[in-house]
Amino acid sequence: MPGSTGPDASPRGLLSIFPHPDDESYGAAGLMALAAAADNPVWVLCVTNGDQGGRPGEIGVDHSLDPEIRLEELRCACREMGIAEPIFLGYRDSGMEGWGAPEGSLSKADSEEVVERMLEVIRRLRPAVIVTFDPGGIYGHPDHVKCSATATEAYRRAAAEPGGPVALYHQVMPRSRIAGMRAAMEEERRRSGDTTPPSEDDLRQQEAFERLARPDEEITTIVEIGEVLDRKLAALACHDSQMRGRRWDDPEVRAGLEQMFGRETFVRVDPAPQAGEREKLPMALEWGGR
Ligand SMILES: [Zn+2]
Repeated sequence: MPGSTGPDASPRGLLSIFPHPDDESYGAAGLMALAAAADNPVWVLCVTNGDQGGRPGEIGVDHSLDPEIRLEELRCACREMGIAEPIFLGYRDSGMEGWGAPEGSLSKADSEEVVERMLEVIRRLRPAVIVTFDPGGIYGHPDHVKCSATATEAYRRAAAEPGGPVALYHQVMPRSRIAGMRAAMEEERRRSGDTTPPSEDDLRQQEAFERLARPDEEITTIVEIGEVLDRKLAALACHDSQMRGRRWDDPEVRAGLEQMFGRETFVRVDPAPQAGEREKLPMALEWGGR
C-alpha cells in the first residue's frame, strides 16, 4: 500500500515482545497466528538469545547453550505461526534466579537502554498493538519481569508519539487454569517417559507460577485459538532444546493439549478497560467478519 509506512500512516498489526525464544509460543502463538491469518502484520521482538536454556551438565557444568540453536528455533516458530522473521535485541539470557546472571545479560543491562532499543523497533515497525508478559512474568524469571517492565515503558513512550501504538496487552495465566495445567503437565510427563524428578528450579518455578497467576476477574481478553491450535503446537515443537523429550504431535495427548493450550489470556492495560469489560479478540487489529 503506497504510503503505508510514511509518517502519517496509521499503526497496523501486532508486535509481541518476549524475553526468550519459546515464551512467545507458550503465551501468544495462537493470537499471532490468528492475527496473521486475518492479514495483520505480526512480529516477535525477542530480547535475549536464550543461551541459559540448557539443563545443568548438558554443556560442561553450566546451563549455557549455543545461542544460535535458540535463535534458529524461534525462526522456525515464526514460520509455523505464519508471521515475519523474528527480531532480536541480542542480550544474554540471565538464567534462573540464583544462577548468577552473566555479563551482557538482560538483568544486568541498563533499563533505559533496553527501553530505547525497544522504542527504535516500535518506531520502525509501527504496530497498533503490543503484547508482553504481565509484571510477574508468569513465574517470576528475572528476564520475564524486566521484559514486562521495559516493554510496558517503551509502549507508553511510543503511544504518546504521533502514529504510535494504540493498545497494550499483558499475557497472563488465570488462577482457574492452574489445577488443570498441573494435571495435564503431569500426564504429559508420564506419557513422555520423563522420569527425572523435578529439580529445585522446577519446584521454585511451580510455586511462583501458582502465586503469580492472576484472579480470573482481572482477565479482559480470552482468545479461543482452536482453529490455529496445530500452528501453536508446531511452533512449540520448534523449541526442541527446551522440550526435554516432550512430543506435541502424539494424537493420544491431543485432548490434554486442547485443555492446556486451547485459549490464550490477556489483560488489556491500555486503553484501560471498563469495569467488567470482556473481549474475545484484542482491539485495534483487523479481524474481518469475526
Ligand atoms: Zn522465558
